[in-house]
Amino acid sequence: MKKLSTDVLIIGSGGAGLRTAIEAKKSGADVFLVSKSKTGLATCTACAGGIFRVSHEKRGMTRHFQETMMAGRFLNNPKLVKIMIREGWKAVKELKKFGVDLSFEKNKASIVSRKLPAGSKLSKALSNCVSSLGIKTLKNSIVFELIVEDKKCIGALAFKRDSGEIIGISTKAVVLATGGYAGLYARNDNPQTITGDGIALAFRAGAKLQDLEFVQFQPMFIDAGIPRTPILDWLIEATKNFVPDGPLINNKGERFLDRYGLLKQQIFRDSLIVAIEREILRTNTSKDSVVLDLTALTADEIEETLDSDYQKRLIQLLKHVLATRKLHIASFAHYTMGGIQINEDCKTNIDGLFAVGEVASGIHGANRLGGNALTEIIVFGRIAGHKAAEYAKNTRLVIIDKRYVNYGKNVLQGFSKKTGSKKVDPSLIKLKVKHVVSKFCNPVRNREGLKSALEELKQIEEQASFMFAENVFKLNEAVEAESMLLLGRLIVNSALAREESRGAHFRSDYPESNDKNWLKNIIVTQENGKVTLRYEAILNNKMNRIEELDGRIPSLM
Ligand SMILES: Cc1cc2nc3c(=O)[nH]c(=O)nc-3n(C[C@H](O)[C@H](O)[C@H](O)COP(=O)(O)OP(=O)(O)OC[C@H]3O[C@@H](n4cnc5c(N)ncnc54)[C@H](O)[C@@H]3O)c2cc1C
Repeated sequence: MKKLSTDVLIIGSGGAGLRTAIEAKKSGADVFLVSKSKTGLATCTACAGGIFRVSHEKRGMTRHFQETMMAGRFLNNPKLVKIMIREGWKAVKELKKFGVDLSFEKNKASIVSRKLPAGSKLSKALSNCVSSLGIKTLKNSIVFELIVEDKKCIGALAFKRDSGEIIGISTKAVVLATGGYAGLYARNDNPQTITGDGIALAFRAGAKLQDLEFVQFQPMFIDAGIPRTPILDWLIEATKNFVPDGPLINNKGERFLDRYGLLKQQIFRDSLIVAIEREILRTNTSKDSVVLDLTALTADEIEETLDSDYQKRLIQLLKHVLATRKLHIASFAHYTMGGIQINEDCKTNIDGLFAVGEVASGIHGANRLGGNALTEIIVFGRIAGHKAAEYAKNTRLVIIDKRYVNYGKNVLQGFSKKTGSKKVDPSLIKLKVKHVVSKFCNPVRNREGLKSALEELKQIEEQASFMFAENVFKLNEAVEAESMLLLGRLIVNSALAREESRGAHFRSDYPESNDKNWLKNIIVTQENGKVTLRYEAILNNKMNRIEELDGRIPSLM
């Protein structure tokens, strides 16, 4: 067993963790960065499209605020949104100093890259900076326990994914930057390392979680050999008027966009996803996809419908296939709006525990505006790094004692010391959780389905008590399976509690939004082993001149 100590421990090396590490180091702290994969790799940041939503003049910033709040259906924390917008332009521009090539337009910045995904340029540049600053890193290691004493986070336990060696880390401050929980869905576009661990760790440590019911999906191709390009909402919007009755066909061969008002209204990702999912349920066939038919257009005509260079570049790969074949599309979990509640300094309700990036919640409310996630991780990475270093300066290091390490050893050994015939493969538990969450807590939910999900998760929990890890790979699977099981229950309970439809959460039994009763965040916490779910009123988010947008809901990506 290895023992380490540091001022600031950062868990996760996506854009949020890397930017935090750089700032904490620059603020004078000794920093340690742990992640499941190689530094900067297998992160959502590395596979991102590379678009930042930013603006620098007053009108643009006001509009950015309004669009973010409208996309989030007003559940966002306006204080956090204002910080992101105020600091965004400067913080993103500063990335040039780290070697990220960026082009700026009025309301956005894009990473310049000839290869896709452009996000890898960002994680590479930040990883280079982390190593040139001499920041200590621990790769291929999974954090499986936070250590909290007297409501103060004093350390963490990790183990090496190749050898199983346990590492006990004593620290003055911990920053969770472990990304979201789209990996709880069978169909998702995130790297496999993204299984919601940080959120489960924080919950077990007593942190407040919020808005877990909000998961952003996007439609993607599922046919073999066709790239899973995240472009279908704007492609359908651009082409819908060139194909009689629109290009989407249900399993009975009917064109259905008009049924959901989408032929006449502008198509946004959340309304498109809900239409696709409702159509799949309505036609009640065994198929879980719909068909995109653009065969009425030539390849050049498809390209001509698009007006941005970025869209044209993405569609280049596909336009010839689209003009000759009908392709199947289905919903993929893409981004999670729920997570750990933070304040303006990225602090959680646990002393010494900070959270930043997709693991945190509050900025995006019920749905995220395209480009805001990358802006968020850069702006709040700077803040988290500085504030954690500042906190560490005024905090005494507590060396974690043997009790905790022994506890950690017991937790891990518990998975490899099963006797009897009832041994269960942890990978199977992960698959079962994904199956239940995807089946009953997909973009269209209802009370009956969510209740069934809770029943089924209870049964999986019973089976999980027999999880057996025959090697270190399976140990990793067992730790992830536990987080997924816990989080699965919390997501389903939150979705059950919100008896209305809002943003990315559509309840077929409560199809309307209900501002009178539901402009509030759903909070889940655990204290002394008891889980509580309660509501918190949203902060005053009165918007200026909202009518300027004419009720238009902006594009989500
Ligand atoms: C395909 C795709 C395209 C996107 N394009 C855009 C875009 O153009 N613009 C935009 O704004 N947003 C985009 N997004 C969203 C955006 O990329 C992410 O929200 C953002 O990068 C998340 O950054 P993060 O640092 O919070 O998490 P991540 O980048 O996901 O990093 C999480 C890190 O935590 C580590 N980790 C997790 N659990 C543990 C553990 N238990 N122990 C140790 N380490 C752990 C992981 O290994 C990883 O290093 C896109 C997302 C996807 C999936």
